[in-house]
Amino acid sequence: VKFVYDFTEGNKDLKDLLGGKGANLAEMTNLGLPVPPGFTITTEACKVYLDSGEEPAALRDEVSAHLDALEARMGKKLGQADDPLLVSVRSGAKFSMPGMMDTVLNIGLSDKSVQGLAKQAGDDRFAWDSYRRLIQMFGKTVLGVDGELFEDALDAAKAAKKVTVDTELEAADLKKLVTKFKKIVKTEAGRDFPQDAREQMDLAIHAVFDSWNTDRAKLYRRQERIPGDLGTAVNVCSMVFGNLGPDSGTGVAFTRDPASGHQGVYGDYLQNAQGEDVVAGIRNTVPLAELEQIDKKSYDQLMQIMETLENHYKDLCDIEFTIERGVLWMLQTRVGKRTAGAAFRIATQLVDQGLIDEAEALTRVNGAQLAQLMFPRFDEDAKVSQVGRGIAASPGAAVGKAVFDSYTAVKWSRSGEKVILIRRETNPDDLDGMIAAEGILTSRGGKTSHAAVVARGMGKTCVCGAEELEVDTKRRRMTVPGGHVVEEGDVVSIDGSSGKVYLGEVPVVPSPVVEYFEGRMHPGADDADELVEAVHRMMAFADRKRRLRVRANADNAEDALRARRFGAQGIGLCRTEHMFLGDRRELVERLILADTDTEREESLKQLLPLQKQDFVQLFESMDGLPVTVRLLDPPLHEFLPDITELSVRVALAESRQEPHENELRLLQAVHRLHEQNPMLGLRGVRLGLVIPGLFTMQVRAIAEAAAERKAAKGDPRAEIMIPLVGTVQELEIVREEADKVIAEVEAASGAQLKLSIGTMIELPRAALTAGQIAEAAQFFSFGTNDLTQTVWGFSRDDVEASFFTAYLEKGIFGVSPFETIDKDGVGSLVKLAAKAGRETRPDLKLGVCGEHGGDPESVHFFHEVGLDYVSCSPFRIPVARLEAGRAAV
Ligand code: ADP
Ligand code: MG
Ligand code: MG
Repeated sequence: VKFVYDFTEGNKDLKDLLGGKGANLAEMTNLGLPVPPGFTITTEACKVYLDSGEEPAALRDEVSAHLDALEARMGKKLGQADDPLLVSVRSGAKFSMPGMMDTVLNIGLSDKSVQGLAKQAGDDRFAWDSYRRLIQMFGKTVLGVDGELFEDALDAAKAAKKVTVDTELEAADLKKLVTKFKKIVKTEAGRDFPQDAREQMDLAIHAVFDSWNTDRAKLYRRQERIPGDLGTAVNVCSMVFGNLGPDSGTGVAFTRDPASGHQGVYGDYLQNAQGEDVVAGIRNTVPLAELEQIDKKSYDQLMQIMETLENHYKDLCDIEFTIERGVLWMLQTRVGKRTAGAAFRIATQLVDQGLIDEAEALTRVNGAQLAQLMFPRFDEDAKVSQVGRGIAASPGAAVGKAVFDSYTAVKWSRSGEKVILIRRETNPDDLDGMIAAEGILTSRGGKTSHAAVVARGMGKTCVCGAEELEVDTKRRRMTVPGGHVVEEGDVVSIDGSSGKVYLGEVPVVPSPVVEYFEGRMHPGADDADELVEAVHRMMAFADRKRRLRVRANADNAEDALRARRFGAQGIGLCRTEHMFLGDRRELVERLILADTDTEREESLKQLLPLQKQDFVQLFESMDGLPVTVRLLDPPLHEFLPDITELSVRVALAESRQEPHENELRLLQAVHRLHEQNPMLGLRGVRLGLVIPGLFTMQVRAIAEAAAERKAAKGDPRAEIMIPLVGTVQELEIVREEADKVIAEVEAASGAQLKLSIGTMIELPRAALTAGQIAEAAQFFSFGTNDLTQTVWGFSRDDVEASFFTAYLEKGIFGVSPFETIDKDGVGSLVKLAAKAGRETRPDLKLGVCGEHGGDPESVHFFHEVGLDYVSCSPFRIPVARLEAGRAAV
């Protein structure tokens, strides 16, 4: 195997082997762009080193050979005393990762060669500046010395000289600083700063390898599901110098605006500076456009190169460059990050420019970005006072009165106040408060903190880890930078998409993208913004491409109509339980309490017309599209009063010697129906089999509603779905009764109803015996919520708040299996059941209802396993449409 590639040997498709940075340096080199020569040590070499603790035997020689070639080309040797070749050693994994080693610049400088460099450049100051930078970077990243010690020494040198910026330090000052830095290295690292150039380089290379396994890098990989065995590449690149005076400098640039997508000149430039100075903010940068005045030749060349890169990568690129005495050098490029809105605009702009086609455009955006664009947002024109910024943990814009404990959050929200729960960090005790609050703000913790995880699960706005805010929960106050104190009851606003925290009420405006989906804003209209145009076009691309159909989970006509506006092609899950609530509770109570068949039939008879009316409306709103109605699923006790409340009522009536016969019967029923574990108890099809007449009443309501719609010249397409089936026998019994009822209704109405009957697959046993179940089912709908609960043995209502944070922190999973389908476990049951079902019944219709139907990654999985449709809540429909299109690319 070959462990080292010259920049001329690689290309952009070799990211696995050369890392992102190395692959793109090679690509630029081969495009003929001015890249300082160098070479890349492969991830393979890193893997051997990490596995065995030693470099692969051939590596040293290969590096030597490439170094020789580099030296020959540059006409000087690494660290050569009178005219040193200097290099940078740069880490570069396939994915950029926090925790990986920082780049070390100026390798090859020593007490001797610094003099040579000074003479060659004719600039003492420059040489000593480069040397002190080397010791600083090397000390910190390779030898593990606390970086602040160097920073402090640098500050002290500036203070002694009474100057504020590093460029004002002169050669003599920097020379002294070098002595100081070397002392720091000696005391902190217990060794001298290495004077041998090759030793510097080798130590830096090993440090890059080792940084693959820092705790931070490991944790990040586990959370992002990046395989732990990829390894990192190492780039050795000959130095060019931006710190050689005012005709030198360094900068970063974007080929177009990463916020709007517009083409133009975007970037920052800093004269007489090296490496990270631009982003580190040590001096004020100038906008890139000013480079035109500073160095027109380099500027024009840079513009030319940016165009070349865009046309070549066919995407927005970001760039690092350096100008050394009027000569431009390219140091890095990659396809650049962008905001969600810009992603949509750029994708359509590139289509218009003829650079990419529709299918490619779909790969440039994703559902998470679309979801982000659909949240209401703070009015950008509003006058606001930002007081802090934390991690954007769960998107949305929330305004409310500051409260500092869960109890107050609940109390105030009960009395109609909107509140923001502010805590240092949250724990399971804060759950009630989090539910009651509009949004959650914490001063500690990251993206996987309790607050972040739970808030995302609830779809609630959350900003976490806003460290500048001093939260004092005891005194119920928060101090913001500058000393202003936010007391309990003061209004604050938080933006979960940007992480920004504001004092006072920032006005919230609906997202233009939602306005568009709602039909209140039209693409092509004068006031339609660019973003709406772009989203509109991307949705059309996705709809043309996708195979999966998208349905909605909706229980009433209002939701169904919204779903249709959002593009739903039917209802995949209509839950019937809400039809048993409200005024109808009394009827349901009577049904449950019925002692005799007559009593029971009487209450069912009263429920029938009510149910039927619900369905008539629903079928009307979804006319011409399929509507899957699930028969009653939840355990009956959910329809009865709370046990404690009822006990108190009975006891009270007893002591007052008031009549309480009904309450007593109710209480007995509650006791009788009480279950330790209702999730696994009397619910779903089990109810239908145990309570005579319940399911047939529901089926009759559906059939009669369909008949009524037919009579009104409508086109009802109802599908009856039986929940929680574990064995085909359950389904057969229900079916037989249902078929009878349907036949009766058809005979009475004279209409052909074409109702289909199917089942949910939400128990492991159902999935495992899907072949048998398909004999009695015309469709399957995977209930992935329950299936996840039963496959993992997790109770969703409990585990998300209790131990999921710990699991996420430990990296056991990167995302909750209730959010994204667990492909290996739950997913393989879905796959197996789909296959077995279709073997029995080739035209079996397959769908999925449950949260996963609107989750981007899960949608791709459902596409791959060949389902016919996904069903999700109305607001997720655009996301599902987009992702279904992307899955088909
Ligand atoms: P990161 O991945 O953090 O951007 P880089 O390896 O790109 O790290 O380098 C850090 C900084 O040093 C960048 O500004 C880069 O442009 C600069 N740099 C890296 N190698 C060289 C070099 N050979 N000559 C001049 N500047 C360099
Ligand atoms: Mg870089
Ligand atoms: Mg279920």
